[in-house]
Amino acid sequence: MTAFEELMAYQRETEALGQIMGRLGWDQETVMPAGAAEQRAEEMAALDSVLHRRRTDPRIGEWLEQAVPEDDAGKRQVEKIHRRFERTQRVPEALSAALARTTSLAHRVWAEARATNDFALFAPKLTEVLDLSREKAAALADGGNLYDALADDYEPGITEGELEAMFNALRPRLVALRERVMGSERTVPTLGTTFSEDGQLALSAELARAFGYNTEHGRIDKAVHPFSSGSGLDVRITTRTMPDDPFNCFYSTIHEVGHGCYEQNIDTAYLLTPLGRGVSMGVHESQSRIYENQLGRSRAFSSWLFQRMTDTFGDFGIGDAETFYAVTNRCAAGHIRTEADEVHYNLHIALRFDLERDLIAGRLEVPDLPEAWNARFESDFGLKVDTPANGVLQDVHWSEALFGYFPTYTLGNVYAGCLHAALRRDVPDLDRDLARSDTSAATDWLREKVQRFGGLYEPKDLIERATGLAPSEGPLLDYLDAKFGDIYGV
Ligand code: ZN
Repeated sequence: MTAFEELMAYQRETEALGQIMGRLGWDQETVMPAGAAEQRAEEMAALDSVLHRRRTDPRIGEWLEQAVPEDDAGKRQVEKIHRRFERTQRVPEALSAALARTTSLAHRVWAEARATNDFALFAPKLTEVLDLSREKAAALADGGNLYDALADDYEPGITEGELEAMFNALRPRLVALRERVMGSERTVPTLGTTFSEDGQLALSAELARAFGYNTEHGRIDKAVHPFSSGSGLDVRITTRTMPDDPFNCFYSTIHEVGHGCYEQNIDTAYLLTPLGRGVSMGVHESQSRIYENQLGRSRAFSSWLFQRMTDTFGDFGIGDAETFYAVTNRCAAGHIRTEADEVHYNLHIALRFDLERDLIAGRLEVPDLPEAWNARFESDFGLKVDTPANGVLQDVHWSEALFGYFPTYTLGNVYAGCLHAALRRDVPDLDRDLARSDTSAATDWLREKVQRFGGLYEPKDLIERATGLAPSEGPLLDYLDAKFGDIYGV
């Protein structure tokens, strides 16, 4: 075997172990018995240290020196393995272990603090997580920018400065649109009845099929917080049901199907290699968002969903497809990010981005965080934060040391805006298909232009190749202005 072949064979086993670890995580959130939690933490920790040792094995360094890849994909594999090898080596094993242990405990404390609305309970653990994260950032950054070093785990190559520029470009038009919509005379009704769980799950499965999710290589289960898991030939998604809010189920499903289809549609030549996964969290979120919002919440597709909901649940109090379309896109200032409409969503992310930059830079201390959150929230949303659970304690991310992750949600929306504009240009009569739940023209386009490449191209290059234009905020803002201007008559 050549050094390249040895490297790839070794990497394949590492990737396989990584997939197993992911599946343990899936199991934990879906079917694991509650009494197994402590044993599971030990199982995860054991696998984590096996992976850490494999990823820092000195043989990788030797193979990397000698490897001569034959083509561009091979070069990219080597580049990705090299990048990961260097990053893993920079973080001392003891620090890595301390982070794993502390976040595992912090997660439990966060859940309890959220349930009891007690930020003071969480503050000491969050301080520990933050201190370790800053230590890790310093080790990775080697004198450079701390936030860049952390964000690179989720969006390779992105910088704090680029993210800041993105939010600066979005903010004025988002705020202006929000003010127009909130001041509109038009009122959009809410659903005022309940919907059976069986009906929701049956229609949710139909939606997953309509968007091309392959259940030969996947399955749909229930989870408290919907997520997707796995790559290649085993890609699973979850959804949830709420009696009075079937949209939560339907749009969670479509969102996770977007993530799932991205993984399922990657070229199988990349199976169990670094190219066999979505290239970044931003690109991943662009897929879930375009499935959910630009396609799933379009006027055309929602007219079909209106019909199917009527078939499934009978008359549910919404008189016509046009009202139903407005209901699926209803705007309201609310405390909770995961329930936010398209107009408000990125303002939630901007708030988190600014606060976590301040935390990482040492400009903001954990005890002062709730006050900073509440003040910013009130000025951006015109609402007071009533409880920590509706404010600073609502998201799991910081307890898991996911600093640098939040902005990838907005980056995903920006990329989705770019892809949607290009899709509409290339498939002008898309709405005719969507109105009968045929998404294939859109999902084929996304598979061809984005999904099949896996990790082959850098995120920004991938979007530029797909659309013919460098990514920018304009298409998302134009789409939002047009859609919500129309729905709210503003
Ligand atoms: Zn997502």
